[in-house]
Amino acid sequence: MERPIVDLEALRKIFKDQPDKFTITITSTCVDCDCEVNVDITSTSGGFGLHGGVLVACLPEGFITKCLHCHQVNSNTFKGDELTS
Ligand SMILES: [Zn+2]
Repeated sequence: MERPIVDLEALRKIFKDQPDKFTITITSTCVDCDCEVNVDITSTSGGFGLHGGVLVACLPEGFITKCLHCHQVNSNTFKGDELTS
């Protein structure tokens, strides 16, 4: 099973660029079902927390996201609580 590719540096950069924010919301479309996904990312001491969706990968042009429904069907995606720095 291939590991999801999520670039921690890309997440850190988002928070660095917006230092007044504790939660960043990424609005994207689900890579599987094409519905709108709003992923709330919170920076925690141990890494990052995700709510509302999951991140599949970080690309230079943006994040690939998946909605929670599709994530449950195919769980080969990244969930925030697995992510530590
Ligand atoms: Zn979906």
